[in-house]
Amino acid sequence: MDKTTRSPIGETDFLQPSHLISAEVSLFCQMLRKFVDNEVLSHAEELDDYWDWTERKEQTFVHGIWKNLLIGLGLQRTFLPEDFGGAGGQSTVETAAMIQEVARGDYGLASTGFISPWSIAALMIPRRNEYLLKKLAPLLLGDDVFIIASAITEPHAGGSVEDVRLRGTQIRTRARLEGDEWVINGHKLWASGFREANWFRVLCVVEGEEFPGNIAQIFVPADAPGVSTSKPYRKMGASIDTNGDIWFQDVRVPKENRAQQDPEDDLKSVIANITIGRLTSAAFPLGIMKRAYEVLRDYVDSREIAGKPMKEHGAIAHELGRVAQNILAAEGFFYSAAARMDRPDTYGFPWEAKNVALASAVQNAVGELGWDAVSRSLELMGSYGYSREGKMEKLLRDLKIGQIVVGGPILRLVEIARHYFGTQTV
Ligand SMILES: Cc1cc2nc3c(=O)[nH]c(=O)nc-3n(C[C@H](O)[C@H](O)[C@H](O)COP(=O)(O)OP(=O)(O)OC[C@H]3O[C@@H](n4cnc5c(N)ncnc54)[C@H](O)[C@@H]3O)c2cc1C
Repeated sequence: MDKTTRSPIGETDFLQPSHLISAEVSLFCQMLRKFVDNEVLSHAEELDDYWDWTERKEQTFVHGIWKNLLIGLGLQRTFLPEDFGGAGGQSTVETAAMIQEVARGDYGLASTGFISPWSIAALMIPRRNEYLLKKLAPLLLGDDVFIIASAITEPHAGGSVEDVRLRGTQIRTRARLEGDEWVINGHKLWASGFREANWFRVLCVVEGEEFPGNIAQIFVPADAPGVSTSKPYRKMGASIDTNGDIWFQDVRVPKENRAQQDPEDDLKSVIANITIGRLTSAAFPLGIMKRAYEVLRDYVDSREIAGKPMKEHGAIAHELGRVAQNILAAEGFFYSAAARMDRPDTYGFPWEAKNVALASAVQNAVGELGWDAVSRSLELMGSYGYSREGKMEKLLRDLKIGQIVVGGPILRLVEIARHYFGTQTV
C-alpha cells in the first residue's frame, strides 16, 4: 500500500461546520489555504529564525508575507463593518475558520494577522465607537499594513489584569482625564505585533474612579509623544509575532479614544474581549493540529518499521487513532461553543460569566488535546520528530504558547470553577 492508494480525507471528515460558513468566507478560506501552501509553508524554517525581522535594515520576505496576507488578500479590511468599507459581520465560526487556515501555516503569522480584529471588537461591542471607527477605517482600508495591537499584559501580571474579580486593582497603567484628554502612564508587555503596530488598545485603570467605572480601554497611536518600545523578545516559538515592552509616559489622546464612552459598557467590552480572545485563541491550536496531522500522515505513509508500513503495526495504529480522535474532539468542542457565541439571543452575551467560563474551557481543552496530539505525533516520528527537518517540533513549541496566551490556563480553570461551582474566594 502506498501514498497514492490512501483514502482521500476532505474537510468534511473533520468537524468544521461548513453549513455555518458563507460561500464568500469559504472562498476566502480557500484563498488563505493556497497562500499558506505557496508562500508560508515554504518559509517555515525562516519564519522561525526571523524573530528579529523588524530590526533588520533590509526588506525581508516577512514584509512581503504581511503585505500579501493583509493587503493583497484583504484580511486587514475584512473585519471592518460593511458601512465602513469592510466585509463586516463575520461570525465567530467564520473568523475561527480563517484563523485556522493561517495558523496551519504559522502561529506567529496568525497571531499578528488577527490582532487588529481583536482590538476592533472593543469598538464594536457592546456599542459602536463611530468616532474611532471613522478615524481608523481609512487606515485599515489603505495600501499599507496597519496594525492595532492590544496592550493588556503588564510586567508584574498578565492573568491578574484580566481577572475582573480583582476589580482592576492589578492594572498599573493609569489614565487620568484632563479636560478633553486622557493622560496615560504605564508599562505594558507582550502585545502581539507591538513592534510594527500603528495603534495600541491599552487597558488602563482610571485615576479617581471606583469599580466598575475604573477599567478603561484607550486607543493610542504608536507615534504619539511619550510612547516608546523595546526590541522584540526572542521566544520559543511564534517568532515573527513581535512581543516586547511598551512604555507610555504622559501620553495624551482625545477623550473619545476610550473604546466605550459609558464606563459600564467599557467593562462589558473588556470582559467580552476576554471571552472572544480565549475562544478564538483556541482556533490557533486547531490550525496547528491540522498541520501536524498532514505532516504525520505523510510520514507514516512512507516509513517502514520491521519490514512493514509503519501504520500497519497495531500499536502504531492505536497512537494514530488517538491523534485523529484528539483533533475531532478539539474541533467538535470548539465549533459547538463558537456557534453558541454567534447566537447571543439564545446563549447570552460574551460579557456574561457563563461565556467567559465556556471560552476558558474551550481554550484549555483544545490546548490540552492539541498538546497530546502533537507530542504523540512528534514521538511517532522518532528523531525526525525532534529535528527541524521533520517539520513537527516547531508545531509543538508554538502550541505551548497558544496554551498560555490570554490569561494562562490556571486562571481559566478558576473562572470555570467560579461559574460552575460558585467558588467565591479565589
Ligand atoms: C506570542 C504571544 C502573544 C501574546 N499576545 C499578547 C497580546 O496581544 N496582548 C497582551 O496584552 N499580551 C499578550 N501576550 C501575553 C500573554 O497573554 C500572557 O503571557 C498571559 O496572559 C499570561 O500572563 P503572564 O505571562 O503575566 O503570566 P501570569 O499572569 O503570571 O500567569 C502565570 C500562571 O498563573 C495563573 N494566574 C495568573 N493570575 C491568576 C489569577 N488571578 N488567578 C488564578 N490564576 C492566575 C495563570 O493562569 C498562569 O497559569 C502574548 C504572549 C505571547 C507569547
